[in-house]
Amino acid sequence: MLVYRNRLLTPGPVELHPKALEALSRPQLHHRSDAAKQVFLQAKRGLEQAFQTQGQALLLTGSGTSGMEALVQNLFAPGDRVLVPVHGNFSERWARIAQQAGLEVERMELEWGRVVHPEYLEGPSGPFQGLLLTHSESSTGALNDVQGLAQAFKARFPQALVVVDAITSLFVSEFALEGWGLDAAVAGSQKGLMCPPGLAYVALSPRALECLKPRGFYLNLASELKVQNSGESAWTPAINLVAATAAVLEELLPHLPEHLALKQRQNQILYTTGQGLGLKPVPEVQSPATTCFYLPEGTAYPQVKEAFARRGATIIGGQGQLKGKVFRVSLMGYSDLYDAYAVAELMREALRSQ
Ligand SMILES: *Cc1c(COP(=O)(O)O)cnc(C)c1O
Repeated sequence: MLVYRNRLLTPGPVELHPKALEALSRPQLHHRSDAAKQVFLQAKRGLEQAFQTQGQALLLTGSGTSGMEALVQNLFAPGDRVLVPVHGNFSERWARIAQQAGLEVERMELEWGRVVHPEYLEGPSGPFQGLLLTHSESSTGALNDVQGLAQAFKARFPQALVVVDAITSLFVSEFALEGWGLDAAVAGSQKGLMCPPGLAYVALSPRALECLKPRGFYLNLASELKVQNSGESAWTPAINLVAATAAVLEELLPHLPEHLALKQRQNQILYTTGQGLGLKPVPEVQSPATTCFYLPEGTAYPQVKEAFARRGATIIGGQGQLKGKVFRVSLMGYSDLYDAYAVAELMREALRSQ
């Protein structure tokens, strides 16, 4: 069948917001110009509003993982002990980054797809300097109650820092940095903000700013803090992506509650459809960022992927230990209810044609 435009139904990169495309079509800005500084500050302030922080948001040029590494390297010193619940590909990434940075990592292994319950944090014996959490574990579609987890952890270790991967939760489900007792968080441009890949957004609470132990060269947060409040960054930023960020934020922030409700509803439609087809969801608690279903008995992932592809859509399979066992469909990108119903029907056709 003829396809005019392929749709990305993956949990990043996603379908781009038209305001991002419009911003990207503008002539190149010089990053030290006044116009660029204004755009940079607009993006920075908008991100602070989105993370709900009275601290600082910083824009880093790099994918989301660069922001994860920057937080670990600048908030903890080698030898510090951190607790990392591991229940998917991205929480595994936290553990590896911390290990590489010379931290002492206490892994809490959970079955992939499960979430972390606050009472699980009562077990491991301290002391700990930090807890590294994944809000929306995009590899399994699971959503953690990071507020409850921060509260439980800080009841035992009040001095510890709680650092959250919010890469597929910011702009997709509710988030509040200090309001939820969190100290630092990271997001990425190619996820909930509907921009191209290439920027990491990090947020530091006032308390995290006091606890900074800066190290590294390119991802040194002290270097960035020095200049980003005047609209510059230490190194040449991906200023075109910063402009896209500012443009989408301007459009999105005034409607954020409705946007989050839409993402919730879209995901519900897809899960209801999948379950109606006899598919079993992977996550214990469903994140609105992506669905994740076990493949039906006797169906291989390439067949499902191909069935979607023939109908003009790109989906994605499993990562790590879920590779070959699951498929994921996401409407985190620029899409509305209309798309959700179309994708639901596409899912029915794709799975019935097996
Ligand atoms: C996409 C993603 C990341 C970061 O991946 P990058 O490829 O480095 O942008 C980290 N955590 C989660 C939960 C993600 O979905």
